[in-house]
Amino acid sequence: MDRDPVEALREAAPDGVEYDGLIARLEGETLQVAVDGSTTVADGTLADLPDSFVPFVTNWAFWHAIAPQRPADRAFLRWLERAHEDGDQSAVPARYDDLEDGVTRTWGQLRITTTLADRGQRRYEVRHVDDRDASIGDLQTYGDPDAAAEIARRDDRGRYRPLRTAPTLPTGWVFPALGPETLVAVVGAFYPATIENWYRERDGGLDVTHYREAADRQTGRYRSISELPVEALEWAAEACCADSQCLKRREWDEDGETELDVPRGDGEFPCREPCSLFVAAAKEWTDLEREQSRTYEFELTPSEKAQLDELVDAVADGRVDEIREAELGEGANRYRTRYLRAKRFEDGALPATERDDDA
Ligand code: SF4
Repeated sequence: MDRDPVEALREAAPDGVEYDGLIARLEGETLQVAVDGSTTVADGTLADLPDSFVPFVTNWAFWHAIAPQRPADRAFLRWLERAHEDGDQSAVPARYDDLEDGVTRTWGQLRITTTLADRGQRRYEVRHVDDRDASIGDLQTYGDPDAAAEIARRDDRGRYRPLRTAPTLPTGWVFPALGPETLVAVVGAFYPATIENWYRERDGGLDVTHYREAADRQTGRYRSISELPVEALEWAAEACCADSQCLKRREWDEDGETELDVPRGDGEFPCREPCSLFVAAAKEWTDLEREQSRTYEFELTPSEKAQLDELVDAVADGRVDEIREAELGEGANRYRTRYLRAKRFEDGALPATERDDDA
């Protein structure tokens, strides 16, 4: 802000100013400023104000002349610096003390630190939570929201990320000194619409589209997902929407009356409807659920049966790559799995006899 904050305050005062414990009124031509039970006449610039008034005035100037005016963005920026929502008069000096050191909050896998800059301005640093202890020199530096969108496209191994809110954001980058508008744009590039939906939820205005309604809207090849039975819908939510797979908190259910039993997750921002990845998965499972279960007989030792259990767990939890070749006791160890295949499989399949239970 180039203009002196007191000059801006004088301009706004005829309409009355009350913000975060600051009260400003024009008495004739005189600007009266009150904070924390004290009043002063502001007839000069910021430099002429008593020290105890300065944080309140610069804070007001930031929120009225620099911060975005969109309610969702403002609420998010205030949440970032833990601003009191009720405008507690003692909040500003205490908040400024905290902001001098930096106030850090987590949004998905983003670690966002707000610090105080010149005359109440805020600066925001964004990095991956796993890079919390990295020095800036060891990270790739960016400042443009387009760079955030590009970073978010692939995980640390270069694989495309179909779900932006999956906990697979790559590490090794930092946006070191963003202004408020750019910070909001960067967060939106990493996690689209999360600020808006978080705000709607806080405001009581989150419109949720439940599964049955979302399924009924599908056309073409996805039309069939309305046939997914509720039991399978529970398994699908457990597979896709758990915190280990998605950082959103699921707020949709089967329908407005029928909640799913699966935990919703602990994410900061809500999920208001089944996403395209979930719909694609539901299509797959709708097809699979058309098959009837059958009973098969095949031979395994108890250890081999336990190995299959471990294999499924390791794949489902994404741990296969962590299992080293030397860890032969692990069910999903590559050599051990190859041994099982060599011993029990024929032509890539486990030979099994289908049992006729009606016989
Ligand atoms: S539907 Fe599930 S996986 Fe998709 S965004 Fe919502 S919570 Fe995440």
